[in-house]
Amino acid sequence: MERLTDISTIKDVMERHGFTFSKALGQNFLINPSVCPRMAEAAIGEHNQETSVGVLEIGPGIGVLTKELLQRADKVVAVELDKRLLPVLDETLGEFDNLKVVNADVLELDLHKLIAEEFDGMEVAVCANLPYYITSPVIMKLLEDRLPIRSITVMVQKEAAVRLCAEPGTRDSSAITVAVRYYCDPEMLFKVSSGSFMPAPKVDSAVIQLKLREPAVHPKNEETFFMVIKGAFAQRRKTVLNSLSSSLSLDKNAVRDILKAAAGVDENARAERLTLEDFANISDAVDDWSN
Ligand code: SAM
Repeated sequence: MERLTDISTIKDVMERHGFTFSKALGQNFLINPSVCPRMAEAAIGEHNQETSVGVLEIGPGIGVLTKELLQRADKVVAVELDKRLLPVLDETLGEFDNLKVVNADVLELDLHKLIAEEFDGMEVAVCANLPYYITSPVIMKLLEDRLPIRSITVMVQKEAAVRLCAEPGTRDSSAITVAVRYYCDPEMLFKVSSGSFMPAPKVDSAVIQLKLREPAVHPKNEETFFMVIKGAFAQRRKTVLNSLSSSLSLDKNAVRDILKAAAGVDENARAERLTLEDFANISDAVDDWSN
């Protein structure tokens, strides 16, 4: 089969299978031949040479990234929601015996079970050109589920990449910035122009890599910790005093006391100025206050 990034190849395959793009499923397929090899190298590159590597891909489309992953990994499991793409993948990737395609919504899947069943004894990496409408929920699911994975290498919209890789305490940070830093070290790998896709989306994209590690701080109660992060950013233009007071339904004096107890977090600061340690301190102070 010719290259899966060639527009004429994509059109031929689509025509043979009567396939048309679904905007609702975020179907923008890669046509820039240099992107997928770079993504696959980044995802698999640094694995332990002694251990076999399994890759979980989300949304293989017609298989352009999948093919690069299959050439480098011991096994690839690709989760695709659109069942119209299953016969297409059979045609484009039929030659590989290290591929399993799972027809499912990644947000509904028990990924612990899938990883245990499919990647026993392997180092696991996640790699995907993510459907943009579910970027944040997918990333949060991969992190919150505490999956036994080493890294997540994904293409996302450029603005999302900036937020995901921002340093907490700086202007670009948001609730997801802080959550991501809790679980992993993010890195911006490279930018990808909108012309690299068919159909071309309105905005540019970027490939980022999240390397999982032990949590960076140790709040007493994780649930409170994430509630505080969400609450502080719920009205990001407001001060942390006002934002937490309305999101946690506490009167301002109580929040003032909590912030004083939280190693003196400035009540007039905005959430974007707070560090991971600040959020852990506020979370512990909320718990102490309510107990
Ligand atoms: N990997 C291909 C590429 O790079 O050309 C396609 C990427 S396209 C941006 C996103 C893919 O995710 C599509 O194939 C789409 O059908 C699939 N998809 C959308 N929502 C999904 C979901 N909830 N679970 C699994 N796959 C999904």
